[in-house]
Amino acid sequence: MSHSSIAGFQTTAIKGGRGVDSSHRPLVSPLVPSTTFVQQEVGGEAEFAYSRVSNPTVSDLEKQLGALEDAEAVCFASGLAAETALLLAVVKGGDHVVCGDAVYGGTVRLLGNVFAGLGVETSFVDCADVEAVRGAIRANTALILAETPANPTLKLTDLAALASIAKEAGVLYAVDNTFMTPVLQQPLDLGADITVYSTTKHIEGHSSAVGGAVLTRDASLAERLRFIRKCTGAIQSPFGAWITGRGVKTLPIRIERQSQHAQRVAEGLEANEFVSAVYYPGLASFPQSELAERQHNGLHGGVLAFEVVGGTEAAVRVLEAVELCVLAEHMGAVDTLITHPATMTHSDVPAEHRRKVGISDGLIRLSVGLESPADVLADLERAIALAHEPQSVKGGGEQCAAVA
Ligand code: PLP
Repeated sequence: MSHSSIAGFQTTAIKGGRGVDSSHRPLVSPLVPSTTFVQQEVGGEAEFAYSRVSNPTVSDLEKQLGALEDAEAVCFASGLAAETALLLAVVKGGDHVVCGDAVYGGTVRLLGNVFAGLGVETSFVDCADVEAVRGAIRANTALILAETPANPTLKLTDLAALASIAKEAGVLYAVDNTFMTPVLQQPLDLGADITVYSTTKHIEGHSSAVGGAVLTRDASLAERLRFIRKCTGAIQSPFGAWITGRGVKTLPIRIERQSQHAQRVAEGLEANEFVSAVYYPGLASFPQSELAERQHNGLHGGVLAFEVVGGTEAAVRVLEAVELCVLAEHMGAVDTLITHPATMTHSDVPAEHRRKVGISDGLIRLSVGLESPADVLADLERAIALAHEPQSVKGGGEQCAAVA
C-alpha cells in the first residue's frame, strides 16, 4: 500500500484494521464491550483477559492507526490520558522536559501544574527557533515535546531539524501531530521517536468519541506504554474505539477536503477589510510557507486563526454573531467550529504566557468542516460586518427609547 499520496492513505485507512472475523465474517469488525474473556486454561497466556489491559475493539483501532504510520499504536481514553502515559513512561522526578511554548493549553497545564509537582521541570520554548531548543537542553532533559502547527497560532516547527538536535543530545523526541494527522505529516519519518494524538479531533472527526493515541516504532517503548496504561487504567472504552475506528476510514478524504476548504476560507478572510491578520500555512503570506511545503503532504489541515480589526471586543462580537459556525471548544470535526482561545482552550494558560506566544485576546481559531466553504465564508463575512457596524446606531436607538 502506497502512502506517497493521500489516495494511498485512504486504502490503508479502510483496510488497515483487524480484517474479517472468522466466526460470522462481518465486513465491519464487531464491537466487543466485554470487560472480561473466558480463559481456556488455568495460568494460560491469552491475548485478551481483561479490558482495562487490552480489548479486541481497541486493538483493531491500534492496528488501523499503526498502519498509517508504520508503527505500534497504544490507545487511551483521551489525548491528555495519552500525554500523561507518555510522560509517566519516559520521565521521572528530577528530569527536565523541553516543550513548545504554543501548544494545547491542557498540555501546559499538565506539565506546569501536575508534573511540576512530581519534580519534573519544564522549559516552554519557541520550537520554531531551533537554536532556542538546543540552548534549553540540559544534562537531565529526558524529552522534547513539540506540536506543529502550534495551537492556536499555527506557527510551524521544523521537525527534521529538531530531530537532529534530539539525536545529538540523546533525548527522546515526541510530536503532538493532532492538527495534521499522519495523512498530512509523518513525524516518525522525519526523525521523531514518538507521535501523540488527541483522536478526539480529526481522527474520529464527528465529535462523537474522546480518545488519544501514542505511536512509536520502538517496541520496548510501546510495551512500557501498555504497562503504564494497565497500571493507571487509562484505556479507551471499546465503544469509543469502535466509533473512532469508523472515523479513521474516512480520515484521508475528510482531511483533504477540510484542508481545501480551510485554504479557501483563509484566502477569503485575508481579503476582508476588517480582518487584520490570517494565520494559515497554505497562504503565500504565511511566514513559514517554505517549511509548510517541505513538511506537509501538499495540504495544510483544516485549522486557521485570524484577528479582526477592533481587537477583543470585535472578536467577541464576531463569535456571538456567527450562525453556521458553531462556538465550541473543539476542532477537526465535520462541522465548522469557532473558538476564542484566550477564554476557552487556553484560559488556564497564564495571560503573560499567552501574550508571549502570540495568543492575543482577540485571536479567533476556526476549524473548518465539510460544509460548503462559500457558506462558511459568507457566515463569517456577515458576522464580521455586523461586529463592525457603528455601535452608536444601536446605542443611539436605545438611548432614544430610554428617553421616550
Ligand atoms: N493535543 C492537542 C493539539 C489538542 O488540541 C488537544 C485537545 O484539544 C489535546 C491534545 C488533548 O486531547 P483530549 O481533549 O482528547 O484530551
